[in-house]
Amino acid sequence: MQKIEHIGIAVKNLKEATSRYKQLLGIEPYKTEWVESESVRTVFFQLDHSKIELLEATDNQSPIARFIEKKGEGIHHIAYATDDILSEMKRLSSLGFRLLNDKPKAGADNKLVCFIHPASAGGILIELCQHVEEASQ
Ligand code: ZN
Repeated sequence: MQKIEHIGIAVKNLKEATSRYKQLLGIEPYKTEWVESESVRTVFFQLDHSKIELLEATDNQSPIARFIEKKGEGIHHIAYATDDILSEMKRLSSLGFRLLNDKPKAGADNKLVCFIHPASAGGILIELCQHVEEASQ
C-alpha cells in the first residue's frame, strides 16, 4: 500500500457539507461526481498528498444512507492507494481479510476499487484504490 489516498466522509447534505469543508480546508473542491452504481454523489477536495471525499446518498438504498441511519454522519471509509489492486486483494484475502467484492470495480475519481469489511480492520471500512487513466475506462 502506498499512502492514504483519501478519507471518505458520509454527509446528509452535500451542499452544506461542501461549503463547510471549503471553509475548513481553504480550497475549492476539484470534482463532483455521481457514482450511479453506489447511489452516491461525491465531492472531492485535493490536499497536498491526500484527498477528502464527501459522500451523500442519492436514494434510501445507498450504502451511505444506511451508514448514516446506523451511525450518523462521520468517517465512512479510509482509502489506500495501490498500484496493483489485484495482487493486494489476493494478498489480503489470503491473510483472512473479508473482501466485499471479488473483482475490482469502477469507483469515483477514475479509480478501480475494492472494499474490505470493517470487521477485518478495526471497525473502519477500507477502500483499496488504483488510479486508472480516464481514456481506459
Ligand atoms: Zn472513497
